Amino acid sequence: MRLARFVLDGRQGIAALDGDTACGRFADEAAYPGELDALLAEGPDILRAAGEALYAGTRIDLSMAQLLSPFCAPGKIICVGLNYADHSDESGFAVPEFPTIFARFASSLIGPGAAIVRPRASEQLDYEGELVAVIGKGGRYIPKACALEHVVGYTLFNDASVRDFQLRTPQWTVGKNFDGTGAIGPVFVTADALPPGCAGLRLTTRLNGQVVQDAGIDDMIFGVADLVSRLSETMTLAPGDIIVTGTPSGVGMARRPPLWMRAGDVCEVEIPGIGILRNPVIDEDA
Ligand code: MG
Repeated sequence: MRLARFVLDGRQGIAALDGDTACGRFADEAAYPGELDALLAEGPDILRAAGEALYAGTRIDLSMAQLLSPFCAPGKIICVGLNYADHSDESGFAVPEFPTIFARFASSLIGPGAAIVRPRASEQLDYEGELVAVIGKGGRYIPKACALEHVVGYTLFNDASVRDFQLRTPQWTVGKNFDGTGAIGPVFVTADALPPGCAGLRLTTRLNGQVVQDAGIDDMIFGVADLVSRLSETMTLAPGDIIVTGTPSGVGMARRPPLWMRAGDVCEVEIPGIGILRNPVIDEDA
């Protein structure tokens, strides 16, 4: 099941996609099933029923719509740093023995098509294409062997990073939480529509059409099941929490000369089977 949040003619809705066809419901209709965040919290049966109701809804021309972040406000946005050995190496860090975890706040998130904002405080705006795993069934001390049963689906992320602020201190929080830097979408894809843990899939990032990152999901040091299990050792995971699983090599910071995103650029993150997350870049003062 592939679900998209959108605005069309000023009306917000959710659509279920079947190939190029989308059907859905608007939030002002009685048959609207509710926001995806709430559906995830209500469990897999409710989510499945909502999906079926959306497929039976009105035909939506998504080419005329503006897509939104699939989620309104994830409870936790847990990001993983240095989760590909070649990226860890290019960044000058040792390969971690435990996942490097940092947090984003929902205030930094933007949807597909929305502009990533280069803040006036920095020139060093970098891209990071990533896979997002979405928790459907919460829990604590989740064994790795059954961890994928807790993942309800996936989407994509551009963990756009303001490098000078990120690396000014050992804590990365500020450099990862500028407004308009956490792009998510374009759609939410349920786990049953993808290989377990997205194994075998390929992640590609393009800047202005040029491939800048290209790696297999299997190259992650800590795979999706491992991340769910290890994170649940430290905190209770809840439905709707998202895990942003880390970026492969090829970031702009590691290039000579560095390749920073600038106003007018377009950055795309793609995993076949999930979609393409495409965002233009603007200056904050624009
Ligand atoms: Mg990242």
